[in-house]
Amino acid sequence: MNGEIIETEKALVSAMEPIHLGIFEGIKAYVENDVNSRGVLNIFRWKPHVDRLWRSAAVCGMKIPYTDEELLEATRKTIGANGFDTNVYIQPRIWPRAGTPEKVHVIVPAWTFETVLGKDNPRFSKNRRLMISSWRRIASDALPAQTKAWANYANSALAMREAERLGYDGAIFLDNRGFVSEGTGACIMAVRNGKVITPPVTASILESITRETLLKTVSDDLGIPVEVGDISRVEFYASDEAFLCGTGWEITPITSIDDLPLGKEYPGTVTNRIAEYYTDVVAGKVEKHKEWLTSV
Ligand code: PMP
Repeated sequence: MNGEIIETEKALVSAMEPIHLGIFEGIKAYVENDVNSRGVLNIFRWKPHVDRLWRSAAVCGMKIPYTDEELLEATRKTIGANGFDTNVYIQPRIWPRAGTPEKVHVIVPAWTFETVLGKDNPRFSKNRRLMISSWRRIASDALPAQTKAWANYANSALAMREAERLGYDGAIFLDNRGFVSEGTGACIMAVRNGKVITPPVTASILESITRETLLKTVSDDLGIPVEVGDISRVEFYASDEAFLCGTGWEITPITSIDDLPLGKEYPGTVTNRIAEYYTDVVAGKVEKHKEWLTSV
């Protein structure tokens, strides 16, 4: 926190801090070779995550007082101080300081998480009933939807609360035009007639790094056609498969939307193939994508 390694319970600020213009990032480090085991960790796609952090700061008029290299060092030190040897989630947070908004707090918390990835992982194939939220995804002329501003997540939290209240496992937003936008913290991909389709950035989505990773690999490496385009609610209901993709949600299959089951098998063949490949990529098992890994 602000340049020092500090125990979580001692990482304190005043309750009077202005928090509405904070930004953050969500990054993962995976165990090399086997994401369900212990061992050496590599951060997945550090550079695009840190670039997005800078863009989020720029949009909110904040300056990060550290270089990329210093943030990476802070991340490595935090993971080292915790002695982690299983998969880690890293969530740098930055917000203006009370009284001196031109200065910011920078903290780099990290914690372990349970992945849905990996062979025969029951967390992956668990049934997930999602609903279309009655909340629309924030329009990017109201809040900076393409960045990771905390304020955007009030939108996600309202949609999640509604879903929980109604007994669903999660929610999908439509954008302000009525087209499918994204999940509450992940992008969405649908599979129709063997083709993967994902909404465009103009559907108020976050510029997701996982989505970009899949756009780069699914067609080139797996030979599955991919298209970026608007998806109507009806097309979404009539998909053969759908899954959430994001750093946090990884590749998470969806069983049904508004209780309408998707396709004939769950998880679907295409979702399975993509998840297996993504697992290999983050674990450093795909030689040509090893440059996406940064050792801890
Ligand atoms: N949309 C939202 C709102 C998110 O919070 C996230 C997670 N960062 C994503 C999409 C997926 O983005 P990424 O693949 O970069 O994690």
